[in-house]
Amino acid sequence: MRTDVFAKRHIGITDDDLEHMLETIGTESLDQLIYETLPEGIRLKENLGLEAPMSEHKFLAHMQELSEKNQLFRSYIGLGYHESLTPSVIKRNILENPGWYTAYTPYQAEIAQGRLEALLNFQTVVSDLTGMELANASLLDESTAAAEAMTMLFDVRSREQKKNKVLKFFVSDEILPQTLSLLKTRSAPLGIELVVGKHGDFEFGSDFFGALLQYPGKHGQIHDYGDFVAKAKENDIKTAVAADILSLVLLTPPGEWGVDVVVGTTQRFGIPLGYGGPHAAFFATREAYKRNIPGRIIGVTKDVDGKPAMRMALQTREQHIKRDKATSNICTAQVLLAVMAGMYAVFHGPEGLKYIAKKVHSTAVTLTDALEKLGLYQVNTSYFDTITVKIDSNALRPIAEKHEVNFLYVDEDTASIAVNEATSVKDLNQIVSVFSEALGKDSAHIDALLQDTAIMESIRRESDFLQNKVFNAYHSETELMRYIKKLERRDLSLNHSMIALGSCTMKLNAASEMFALSMARWGNIHPFVPVEQAKGYQIVLKELAKDLTTITGFAATSLQPNSGAQGEYAGLMVIRAYHESRGEAHRNICIIPASAHGTNPASAVMAGMKVVVTKTDEKGNIDVADLEDKVAKHSENLAALMVTYPSTHGVFESSIMHITQLIHDHGGQVYMDGANMNAQVGLTHPGKIGADVCHLNLHKTFAIPHGGGGPGVGPICVAEQLVPFLPGNPIIETGGEKGIGAISAAPWGSSLVCLISYGYIKMLGGSGLRRSTEIAILNANYIKNRLSGKFDVLYTGERGRAAHEMIIDCRPFKKQGIEVSDIAKRLMDYGFHAPTVSFPVAGTIMIEPTESESLAELDRFCEAMLSIREEIDRASSDDTDNVLKNAPHTLEMLTSDTWDFPYSRQKAAFPLPYLSENKFWPAVRRVDDAYGDRNLMCTCDPIEAYAEAE
Ligand SMILES: *Cc1c(COP(=O)(O)O)cnc(C)c1O
Repeated sequence: MRTDVFAKRHIGITDDDLEHMLETIGTESLDQLIYETLPEGIRLKENLGLEAPMSEHKFLAHMQELSEKNQLFRSYIGLGYHESLTPSVIKRNILENPGWYTAYTPYQAEIAQGRLEALLNFQTVVSDLTGMELANASLLDESTAAAEAMTMLFDVRSREQKKNKVLKFFVSDEILPQTLSLLKTRSAPLGIELVVGKHGDFEFGSDFFGALLQYPGKHGQIHDYGDFVAKAKENDIKTAVAADILSLVLLTPPGEWGVDVVVGTTQRFGIPLGYGGPHAAFFATREAYKRNIPGRIIGVTKDVDGKPAMRMALQTREQHIKRDKATSNICTAQVLLAVMAGMYAVFHGPEGLKYIAKKVHSTAVTLTDALEKLGLYQVNTSYFDTITVKIDSNALRPIAEKHEVNFLYVDEDTASIAVNEATSVKDLNQIVSVFSEALGKDSAHIDALLQDTAIMESIRRESDFLQNKVFNAYHSETELMRYIKKLERRDLSLNHSMIALGSCTMKLNAASEMFALSMARWGNIHPFVPVEQAKGYQIVLKELAKDLTTITGFAATSLQPNSGAQGEYAGLMVIRAYHESRGEAHRNICIIPASAHGTNPASAVMAGMKVVVTKTDEKGNIDVADLEDKVAKHSENLAALMVTYPSTHGVFESSIMHITQLIHDHGGQVYMDGANMNAQVGLTHPGKIGADVCHLNLHKTFAIPHGGGGPGVGPICVAEQLVPFLPGNPIIETGGEKGIGAISAAPWGSSLVCLISYGYIKMLGGSGLRRSTEIAILNANYIKNRLSGKFDVLYTGERGRAAHEMIIDCRPFKKQGIEVSDIAKRLMDYGFHAPTVSFPVAGTIMIEPTESESLAELDRFCEAMLSIREEIDRASSDDTDNVLKNAPHTLEMLTSDTWDFPYSRQKAAFPLPYLSENKFWPAVRRVDDAYGDRNLMCTCDPIEAYAEAE
């Protein structure tokens, strides 16, 4: 028997287990189970025709070989992306550590205190450096963050003045080109009118609701925007600034001018360029907008003992609660990268950041001096790290490329050079010699950096930042390593136990899939290098897009969206463009089932569509009669149906082909939410069921780790008629010929993590992918059978089977006073992360085991659930002092000198034997959400507060 087959490592059960499990389920073969699960009409008759699997060893060599096709030039292109130095201690202990990268979004705060603290650090860094009161725990990239600023300010204004909407938004012409493209895409469906110009010429009219400035400008010029912001305020125009985070160490923070929003990226805080991403963007604003801020914010609260604890704050703003009225469609963000960027600031501290920023600035000043000595004219009168030089760029470029150097060629006689943390004196000499060669002159050798400044006096930073203890305590590697480990131990991740999150597909993120992320030839490539320098990437991205197109049964794929929700938005925008191209721009109704994920309605609104909700019947299927009514009623204006398949209820609806036909008959397009693709790959596909577009969550089905809440990749795959509208990029050519403009800042979104999904597909091959789907379905049905009689499964298919996940009804336990959240918290005592709670049905949990779990782990989980069921039976609504209501139990409780609970310590913390050898301790007792929302605190305490406490 071959053992070098990756599928054997990815899939958790053995062939012997399979027999036993089929017996438990009561079916004779896997084929029979799949036959009973998938409706006949939608089964693929043939294999997808993907390649045979590659062994892990072969794949590692393959990635090494492909990486050598990426040319590692020195890139000084800038435009929001700069080479940066990832501290090795962070790279090894976070980026390469499954304890961090396999964590889920911190919904279960008691077992997520580590990453919550790391994110609080991130928010503090952003608040301090921007001079703002409040920051979120990351957005997808700088350009989408700028678009979020625009829409937030628009919404705030529209709410203030219901009538006479003010529609104009001013954008400085010094904004990054990718941001401008994205703003165009995002403003059009909302009716916002962009006016692009020079901020100095702007006439502050009452028809403007907001303005966006870039600080420093795209080619490096710094302006003092103080007067602009003050004048805007007088005219009731809100201001947003897109700022470079490192420059803010030396520059007046925009918060001190009184701006309303500051956005940007933290990429240069130790995050690899990765040919475009993933990187964590930030969004900082004033306290007054705390209910309007997009994305997740981490806040401080207390647990039931009054001990400080952290959790995600103000979730009532978010799409999973507010749906079409949410502040944004952000779900997955960039948590892992935010953790790394925050840790970069912890590692360097305020003094280290000042050293880095000053060194970068001195490098730019020294370069200017040397180029001026060559007789060149440097344009920027005040700058941080980017200078702009007048030179024949057509003459310069070939010489630069010969020396493996990239500059930004602004126009025929202008080039711009952005230096960074990694730029050495040797690099400076190379840059100067490229210029002198272009000019045919000799240049003097640079020996050391000049210490002059080119930052005008009025905007030099005076204020302190990062005075908190955490940024002043962990500057040695030993200390930082232990701090990272301390936080890691507070978090339950996949390296401890299974995380059976329905709809989120927490499967194995194999080490072999991850290795390439650590390699410089994948990590250190700027997104705007000429494509011929990134041949390795181009091969991987094309091949991945091709395979995803095959897997979905469509015609083409765009990898650009950085999350599932962003994919939804992109897909709907493509549908919108398609209708427009046919003279049917009036089609704006998007029908969405009541059970849909909250991102669906939130994305539809962003695409300028009106949401019409259709019912689900008592079996959890789309109520076809209701849908027929709604389709008939809106036939004229029907744009799309958004449908999740198998449904969010975990069922393969057999009416799906009738439904897609119905939508087409009425001129609509079918959008399939592909989050549940783990139940389809190799067995059926969206093309087969008649959909026109779907997004995939590569961070679910295709093995990109969840990262504690990001990164994500949400590619869209589309049918033939939608291909011309796929999203583009203003700098690097990509997308359809009538493309909808940019959806993300980078041409291929988060290219670096696409390598993971590429590895997943290549190492499993067609046969392994299909097998994975079958085993995912088997595992779900195995759990269903083991729990049957004790927990009711809410919905099943026609033959009584679950798909790859199932919903378990916990509402009957209310009789004993037990809520679904009590079960979720009690699972922590058993060493498990709760499944999805109360989605899509309140009072239920949704379990999705995936194919990667072993039979032993599935059994452990079932035993925990069955044991909890016995505890529920013993609970009573008259007495809430029970093991469920008091869960989770901490080590502090257990080792306390007093124990006043009516059950034993063993019952509390070691209810089953397996726990004695593998116990996970929740860091805090149950957290108080309401208290935290009432007393919003989103940064770490300053050092004085620690001093007082001590
Ligand atoms: C996860 C999920 C989404 C959103 O994906 P993000 O990457 O978090 O934006 C959308 N729909 C469903 C059904 C999902 O499970």
